[in-house]
Amino acid sequence: MFSNAVVQQAWTRSGGRCECANRSHQHPGRCNKVLIWERRTGENKPGAWVAESKSGKFLPNAGDCEIACWQCSSIGR
Ligand SMILES: [Zn+2]
Ligand SMILES: [Zn+2]
Repeated sequence: MFSNAVVQQAWTRSGGRCECANRSHQHPGRCNKVLIWERRTGENKPGAWVAESKSGKFLPNAGDCEIACWQCSSIGR
């Protein structure tokens, strides 16, 4: 898991929107779905999101942390 500080940093960078840019998903370019801070891991609710590790290793920096909406996260990267 990421520390709260790392997640906060990544969240600020994301602007509170899904950062997923997976080309195999339905959204063109960045997903940009509006997320709700309190809904972290609030599965399948509007605004629910997950802090994903780009490397899969949960490195202790915001560069490895991607803010993704629950839908994108459940489809997979
Ligand atoms: Zn998304
Ligand atoms: Zn996506």
